[in-house]
Amino acid sequence: MDDRVDLVVIGGGLAGLSLAAGLARGGYEGRVVILEPRQEYVDDRSWAFWTHTGHALPVAAARRWSCWQFSRQGDAPVSCRAEGWSYAYVRSLDFYRAALRLIASRPNFKLVLGARAGEVDRNGDRISVATDAGVFSARFVVDTRPATMDRFSRSFMFQSFAGRELAFDQPRFDDSRVELMTDMRSDALGFVFSYVLPLSPTHALVESTRFSTHAVGQTQLCADLDQLLAARGWSQAEVLRAEGAVLPMGLPAAHVSEPTPGVVHAGQGAGALRAASGFGFLRIQAWADRCTRALLQGNAPVGHPPEPKLRGWMDQVFLRALAQHPERSAEFFLRLAESVPGEAFVRFMSDQGGWRDYARIVTALPPGPFLQALRGPLPGPRPLA
Ligand SMILES: Cc1cc2nc3c(=O)[nH]c(=O)nc-3n(C[C@H](O)[C@H](O)[C@H](O)COP(=O)(O)OP(=O)(O)OC[C@H]3O[C@@H](n4cnc5c(N)ncnc54)[C@H](O)[C@@H]3O)c2cc1C
Repeated sequence: MDDRVDLVVIGGGLAGLSLAAGLARGGYEGRVVILEPRQEYVDDRSWAFWTHTGHALPVAAARRWSCWQFSRQGDAPVSCRAEGWSYAYVRSLDFYRAALRLIASRPNFKLVLGARAGEVDRNGDRISVATDAGVFSARFVVDTRPATMDRFSRSFMFQSFAGRELAFDQPRFDDSRVELMTDMRSDALGFVFSYVLPLSPTHALVESTRFSTHAVGQTQLCADLDQLLAARGWSQAEVLRAEGAVLPMGLPAAHVSEPTPGVVHAGQGAGALRAASGFGFLRIQAWADRCTRALLQGNAPVGHPPEPKLRGWMDQVFLRALAQHPERSAEFFLRLAESVPGEAFVRFMSDQGGWRDYARIVTALPPGPFLQALRGPLPGPRPLA
């Protein structure tokens, strides 16, 4: 395959591979190049999300649970369920392998590893993409690169976490339910909680997470995690792998003053992560399905859609209340867990909420901090802790 192609996909992560796999599955006949800087795919993250019975996933979920828990540190947990829904876990390596198999099955598709894209320019009816593996010329470009540092740092809340996949040779975990947000508390750095996905009685992913107005560094996050493991008696487990990240919550919209015709943006850099949760797996699948359909019908690709106004506004208010009141954040989440029916909460979190669900969320929350959040000042950004 030469360097003149129909479609260049910049970034072979979740968004780029979801699109490429969808096109391969659909028999797209154009020539496709996917540019990805990494040299190999490893199990670098866990994707979890709520899914409705019968919802088709790009790869089988490795585990599903029908119960998820919230608790304040030292208190008994509140257990939640939603009829017809489960909390599902997809192992990233399962997804990468399935997508890579589909891409490899098509001679007109090429994944270029070790290729970092730079400038993207329009030249007449073609678009050129400069990379350290040469220049590619395409009719269309789908750019899934993450947000630039400048945009990332303008987010006003961050979700910072460190996790380890642990294994014991004896049963140590109750794998009938997920600890979604347990041990909730606040300290000088903001709001903290534990997240435990028990993959089996002997095996779990355990994370310590912070929501704060600044990105928290891995040293602090690993200290949080060590403390959590010691408190649960899990410090002696075998560590199978580690994962961690800082995700921007409430990322400002990307302002492209002069959009390049034929170039669209998708993935987390284009606002695919839900502001209030940092979840993006299913939102990226929904975009990839739409973009695949457009290309299979002979149309131009479509970018990640803008957030619907009401949902975007509610998420912003919620994040502002968390930013202004880390000391009350545990109370906010517990009120949602205790007062909102599981189905309404999960529909809202999964972008499927209707007016009634929105009303239930609003009426469950204490009015004072949320009225203040409509216009009160935000704490200023702080350096990396
Ligand atoms: C550790 C972790 C856990 C997460 N857990 C969940 C979860 O449980 N549930 C959920 O819904 N969401 C979760 N997310 C959020 C979101 O779903 C993921 O971040 C998802 O991978 C975003 O997909 P993406 O394609 O936008 O970004 P990525 O998957 O990060 O892909 C972007 C790709 O672009 C490539 N790239 C970067 N620069 C260049 C360049 N110059 N040229 C070419 N390519 C480039 C990168 O190498 C990368 O492969 C998690 C995120 C992380 C980091």
